[in-house]
Amino acid sequence: MFYDIIYFIEGEFMKVYNTLNKKVEEFLPHEEGKVKMYTCGPTVYHYAHIGNLRTYIFEDVLEKTLSYLGYEVKRVMNITDVGHMTSDGDTGEDKMLKGAKREHKTVYEIAHFYTEAFFNDTNKLNIKKPSIVEKASDHVKEYIKIVSNLLDKGIAYQANGNVYFDVTKANDYYRLSGKNADELIVGAREDVEEDRNKKNPYDFGLWFTVSKFENQAMQWDSPWGRGYPGWHIECSGIALKYLGEYLDIHCGGVDNIFPHHSNEIAQSEGYLGHKWCNYWMHGEHLNDSTGKMSKSKGEFLTLSLLESKGYKPLVYRLFCLQSHYRNQLVFSYEGMDHASNAYNKLVTKVKMIKDNLSGKLEKEVIKQYQTKFKEALANDLNTSLALTTLYDILKDDAINNNTKLYLINDFEQVLSLGLLNEEKITIDSELETYIKDMIVKRDNAKKEKNFALADQIRDELKDKGVILKDSHTGTTFEII
Ligand code: AMP
Ligand code: ZN
Repeated sequence: MFYDIIYFIEGEFMKVYNTLNKKVEEFLPHEEGKVKMYTCGPTVYHYAHIGNLRTYIFEDVLEKTLSYLGYEVKRVMNITDVGHMTSDGDTGEDKMLKGAKREHKTVYEIAHFYTEAFFNDTNKLNIKKPSIVEKASDHVKEYIKIVSNLLDKGIAYQANGNVYFDVTKANDYYRLSGKNADELIVGAREDVEEDRNKKNPYDFGLWFTVSKFENQAMQWDSPWGRGYPGWHIECSGIALKYLGEYLDIHCGGVDNIFPHHSNEIAQSEGYLGHKWCNYWMHGEHLNDSTGKMSKSKGEFLTLSLLESKGYKPLVYRLFCLQSHYRNQLVFSYEGMDHASNAYNKLVTKVKMIKDNLSGKLEKEVIKQYQTKFKEALANDLNTSLALTTLYDILKDDAINNNTKLYLINDFEQVLSLGLLNEEKITIDSELETYIKDMIVKRDNAKKEKNFALADQIRDELKDKGVILKDSHTGTTFEII
């Protein structure tokens, strides 16, 4: 394939870690200049926890990086409102029913409420809504088409009213997870009850009619009886309908690798008869101090909880961008406090630049910094290095403020930290009076030629994050 458009910088393409091949690779989409991207959406039975939101921040940065590098991105996301069990296999309780029981509402009410809550959260985090967002429950026709095709080919089978995918018929079923069947059986939990209708333990449900959830609220007619789709078929059905036969990037959190994404590959490729998606990217988890984050155990960490404790949502975005998406990240309030400090300093500096604009745009400087920024992101989304480039600009005394503002604006297309909208941090009047008193004390010390005291006052203030600036009109201060 020949690429004559420069998407990154001469001769170089973006590089991403591809879970399918377990290595960092050059990213080459099927169609020049265009990217088809699918990201698994939320299961709308409860609020998203901030771990879930970390994954959506990673995907947002990926989409925006691709656009920044010159690609036209078409992104699709599903809303899981049916078929997802509390276990990612076919066992456990139906998550939507669980939500409905908990709140004495219908499954439809629950789905509607938590879909809105999800977009409310993502909006606060400056996460762009994918251009196509589709509900799983609206695409039963697509699932029936795929399942019928798989049955015709003998890749799927019916047992006791349900339809299952036969994983022994899949091409390289364990490739994405890098595991093998024996390993998975050894790893399986003994208390997870097995579905006796399956031929192999890793066969998975495509369509259920006979289930232990007799009061399953969402049901549809199908050639195999009234019932509902399995969770995995939803993503294949929606992706194939809106993005066609060839997908460039598919994303999710690492827990999606097995079984969800492995099953998506098996059924999509079984249906299509060829390879479906070239790049699989997975975000590592956000953990709490006890390990895995959960909606039912420990503190249920939501964005609203962080807000109620005084943290701005975009501070959480910065907290996430400071680390690489493929590293596990441990959440702590201490970490949030640091991010909050860093965020406030950034906002204050940007405001100072906005308030003191001067100079002509320095084109060469802009190009150099943009190249650094692109290099960082194009290297498998090195967001912390991208942030360092931003910090370098802010402290570069050799460039003028118009140039700085131009670059901040430019980088914000990807970082989306709201740096240009936030108001400067206001300081309380008590602190202001204290600083002004100290400035008077220092002026007096200087008049009395007591320079040691003058320097001591300046240093004490500096330790408190207050920088004094002397000019012929007097002394001003800046909070950093
Ligand atoms: P769910 O709503 O449970 O389907 O999950 C939504 C997204 O969050 C999926 O892409 C999961 O892989 C991801 N996810 C789940 N737990 C975490 C976590 N602790 N940290 C980061 N992402 C997560
Ligand atoms: Zn999915």
